[in-house]
Amino acid sequence: MAETKSTCCYCGVGCGVIIESRDGQVTGVRGDPDHPANFGRLCTKGATLHLSARHESRALHPELRRSRATARSSATWDEALDYAAGRFAELIGSDGPDAVGFYISGQLLTEDYYAFNKLARALVGTNNIDTNSRLCMSSAVAGYKLTLGADAPPACYEDIDHADLFFVAGSNAAWAHPVLFRRIEEARARNPQTRLVVVDPRRTDTAAAADLHLRILPGTDIALVNAMLHVLLADGLVDRAYIAAHTEGFEALERTVRDYSPRTAARICGVDADEIITAARAFGRARAALSLYCQGLNQSTHGTHNNAAIVNLHLATGQIGRPGAGPFSLTGQPNAMGGREVGGMATLLPGHRDPADPAHRAEVAALWEVPELPARPGKTAVEMFEAVARGEIKAIWIACTNPAQSLPDQRLVRAALARAELVVLQEAYRDTDTARFADVLLPAASWGEKDGTVTNSERRITRVRTAVPPPGEARADWAIAADFALRLAARLGRADAARLFAWPADESGPAAIFDEHRSTTLGRDLDIGGLDYARLEREGPQQWPLPSGAPAGRARLYEDGVFPTASGRARFADTRHVEPAERPDERYPLILNTGRLRDQWHGMSRTGIVAQLFGHTPRPALDVHPDDLTARALRAGGLARVASRRGELIVAVHASTDVSPGQVYLPMHWGSRFMRGAGANALTLPAFDPLSKQPELKCAAVEVTKVDLPYRVVGLARLEPGVAHALQPLLERFAYATLVPFGRDEPLVELDARDRAAPDAETLAALDAALGFAGGVRELRYEDPSRAVGKRIRFAAGCIAAVRLAGETRATEWLREVMLRGASDASLRRLALAPLDRPPAAGPARGRVVCNCFDVSEDEIARELAGTRSLGELQARLKCGTECGSCLPELRRLAAAGAGARAVRA
Ligand code: SF4
Repeated sequence: MAETKSTCCYCGVGCGVIIESRDGQVTGVRGDPDHPANFGRLCTKGATLHLSARHESRALHPELRRSRATARSSATWDEALDYAAGRFAELIGSDGPDAVGFYISGQLLTEDYYAFNKLARALVGTNNIDTNSRLCMSSAVAGYKLTLGADAPPACYEDIDHADLFFVAGSNAAWAHPVLFRRIEEARARNPQTRLVVVDPRRTDTAAAADLHLRILPGTDIALVNAMLHVLLADGLVDRAYIAAHTEGFEALERTVRDYSPRTAARICGVDADEIITAARAFGRARAALSLYCQGLNQSTHGTHNNAAIVNLHLATGQIGRPGAGPFSLTGQPNAMGGREVGGMATLLPGHRDPADPAHRAEVAALWEVPELPARPGKTAVEMFEAVARGEIKAIWIACTNPAQSLPDQRLVRAALARAELVVLQEAYRDTDTARFADVLLPAASWGEKDGTVTNSERRITRVRTAVPPPGEARADWAIAADFALRLAARLGRADAARLFAWPADESGPAAIFDEHRSTTLGRDLDIGGLDYARLEREGPQQWPLPSGAPAGRARLYEDGVFPTASGRARFADTRHVEPAERPDERYPLILNTGRLRDQWHGMSRTGIVAQLFGHTPRPALDVHPDDLTARALRAGGLARVASRRGELIVAVHASTDVSPGQVYLPMHWGSRFMRGAGANALTLPAFDPLSKQPELKCAAVEVTKVDLPYRVVGLARLEPGVAHALQPLLERFAYATLVPFGRDEPLVELDARDRAAPDAETLAALDAALGFAGGVRELRYEDPSRAVGKRIRFAAGCIAAVRLAGETRATEWLREVMLRGASDASLRRLALAPLDRPPAAGPARGRVVCNCFDVSEDEIARELAGTRSLGELQARLKCGTECGSCLPELRRLAAAGAGARAVRA
């Protein structure tokens, strides 16, 4: 068995992993105890990475269709790349370089990003290169640049150990950055005086753990933070000496925040004025205040000022540039930071330069030895797809991302992809929602198969290493970009391409690209002149800046109070409350918020492979406050239509007081692969922040209405290769349908579909074929055409192999549990087709899985907590929460609720 040190490919915490492999297959993963981001810890997603390394969903060979009238078929790399290069050259020749665009990803490695950026700007001559990081971090970039002068998070993870106030805004770190949240929990346990203040419209697990939760109305963060500054000024808790010595522009902000009294802000934000005062005083009196924030601030039409308002607080109190203090933007994706460093976005150039600045363009042109770089502004994510929809951009190259699920306003995005003259998709997975639009599908290498670097939230650059070879003909992303560049250059008559893309085609290529990237950072705020692969091998992950000759990277920035602005002073931004782009009205009276779950990642192209990651939340459900359910005659667990001005979706509704009345919440992970419909982004709006161009994904006006779909069809089967792919097309045949992988040792899959009436015979036949029903002695059937009831069950080796229930589905729950357990006794099998909710022999229900590591369900925890057990006793008996710890916040909540219930009973 081989072991390879690498990095988790999910979130921006950037945990180090050790990949175990044997005979070219990934066999296991564990946390790297030496990595300073996680010291051996992994969350549920990271700990199951090895299970995601299966090949059945992978794109293994290039595919090509020369006409939309035909389906894609296998092609050689030469055929696929030559075709793409030919079409790109034609369009560039006829319509100019801005007729093409590149939409890439924060999942790419820094070296991949660098290659694409050079391809777009130095060869094609367009700034039409943007990334899904636009949906994630661009407001943080713009916020830092506006106030501090450079896109550099000033704090580091070690600051968590020194802070005595955590101010968490717009971040459910307990779920989205679990390993970081463990560190916060440990810091609070070590020092009980440490306070946690959370600002969030929802009571998330992070908010539930807080000493103070400010449950603001969506989109009102600036009013809240301005009011906190108002209180700090009134109480004399600002640092006038720091403001005078190191900042500029405070007078204008001071005038502005006079209008934001706690009472005024309380009206805007929907919280008590006293809570605002308490939060402000906690911040002002803290020895070291660390703000942590993420998508709740970023994904807004005023996301830049949301970020800047937080930075204002830190500058006004001098809470920056010292241990435990600073405004610390958490990055969503594993390499959003690396993409920013190499300028892989329309609004950036390599080395944190600006494409709107002629001097910066000239510097990069000189480094790349090309006459000039394009001056025309490039299209950012939403703008790019709008331009494709208008026919302005005719060819789009998409790498390692899934815009047909992740971008807002899916109707527009999917229409754009359908209209494009050429869609090239460079992807590791062949079943993403975007794949169906691809004219050219290029198989890309993925986690465990690639070599390069990523940068995490605290500016720490870590090596990503190849543990196993890519499957089939998949290739590294940078190598695909470089190969295409050479073919395109030949058609464009560019003789300099061999020099521009002269990276060795072998395993030394990434190091050569990194060295080139390093040269673009010299003398810049992110200078890594002292860093190369050899040093990363020798000394491990390093933070930037790390200039030549420096003994180590800098842990935190601005310790000297000097900022990378023209004056050397940080700039206060004059932030004011702005109404969100869309407000609720009579027709759409509810505010829709979207976000992440604990055990899923983005559009599930990777986590969707791991059945056990569905245990915590099996299917999408809309959180609705019980008052809003009652007002609409909706039943918890029932189905509802959610409609916005842009589209609609049918989902189950979940009664939850974690959302306030008038607000609803839908996870963003589901797309057409696991449900009928385009997912949450069928509903969201494409409005974006004018500075950061980041779209609004947290505040859309919707209405929720009851739907009546009385006819139900359920299919259960072992998740053998091909089963899920055969079931997916059936989702669109029902008014509502979800596909849920489940199980652990043996993955299983459930299709749950509802409609107004029974499906046609052809649909049922297709379902039966996908589930493997072919007649035979091992199949039992029950048919009652008068009631449109038809049930089938198949056995194999003493186990239930597949079930199809149509029209009568009461046995679904216990049959699913019997399949989970594996072998089933004869008495249970005899009852399988009976209309029974639960035969006694089936044992007690298990319910939702809370602890993924030890497979402990909510019902099992509830049974334990019905006694007098503390959290410690609960863990001693069930082991839940003793491995990765991702479920600890929920266990604490359940234990507290259990203690409350016992107190009431007593
Ligand atoms: Fe991966 Fe979890 Fe660490 Fe994020 S916190 S990098 S998802 S292991």
